[in-house]
Amino acid sequence: MPDIKPEFFINLPNPGMIDMTRPAIFFLLFLATNASLVLLYPFSLSRLLLATLIYAAGTVLMLYLLFHPRNQWLVANRSRVEGVGCVALTFDDGPNPVDTPKLLDMLREKGVKATFFVVGKRADQYPEIVRRAWAEGHLVANHTWSHHSLFCFLMPWRLRAEIERGTESVRRSCGFRPRFFRSPVGLRHPLLGLYLKDAGLEYVSWSIRTRDTLTANSSVLAQRILNKAASGDIILLHDHLPAGADVMLEALPRVIDELRERGFEFVLAGPREDACGRTVEPAACEPAP
Ligand SMILES: [Zn+2]
Repeated sequence: MPDIKPEFFINLPNPGMIDMTRPAIFFLLFLATNASLVLLYPFSLSRLLLATLIYAAGTVLMLYLLFHPRNQWLVANRSRVEGVGCVALTFDDGPNPVDTPKLLDMLREKGVKATFFVVGKRADQYPEIVRRAWAEGHLVANHTWSHHSLFCFLMPWRLRAEIERGTESVRRSCGFRPRFFRSPVGLRHPLLGLYLKDAGLEYVSWSIRTRDTLTANSSVLAQRILNKAASGDIILLHDHLPAGADVMLEALPRVIDELRERGFEFVLAGPREDACGRTVEPAACEPAP
């Protein structure tokens, strides 16, 4: 295997442009899409067709910008890791008091480091698990405070609070402000890029959606990942699921072993640095307020 020197930094195409111009353009797109309905008066078939066309095109474009996990237009993001033969395992939605410790045991046994995008309110419930992940060499990142399912429709103040409170939970658990962020289900928000910049956070997406949340058979899950995995992939998994993460925990050892046999190396989705780019060491846990 050649020397692996992963590069993690995101080159923002033009941060100044992203600041307010794109949220404003998105807002105008929203207004124009809805304003197209005035074409219906006075009513005629040709006006109905024109209004339908404009409304459908505007809606599809807005849905793409808000829902596609790798689109760069609203938020610059990275969905791959550099380095030949490198792949990154990422676990969202934890910590879970039962499954996350089992996962950490398995990763320790296999000698694999991974990235945990933790939900702030769960990190406050189980800070010792988050701290253990950090202390064992994994990367801990912000996955918002409450994992709001309508993240892309949040009011601006709520969006900022979701980001800031998520960061504070990681800081209380591990002693540093995280540098990386992923939103619930990869949803975007017109103001997300602006607020992430304020919080010193970089968005990390994924290139393989494993659908572990919908899969009941560990062999199917393992095979799906093994069929897709290629150099540079960031793999999305979950260590907290309503029905438990047993399927993922059963599938993962086979995935790790087979990918290693193919020559892959497991890396973190970014460096263990804080929001200011400083290398961080484990510090004392602070209790949640
Ligand atoms: Zn999530």
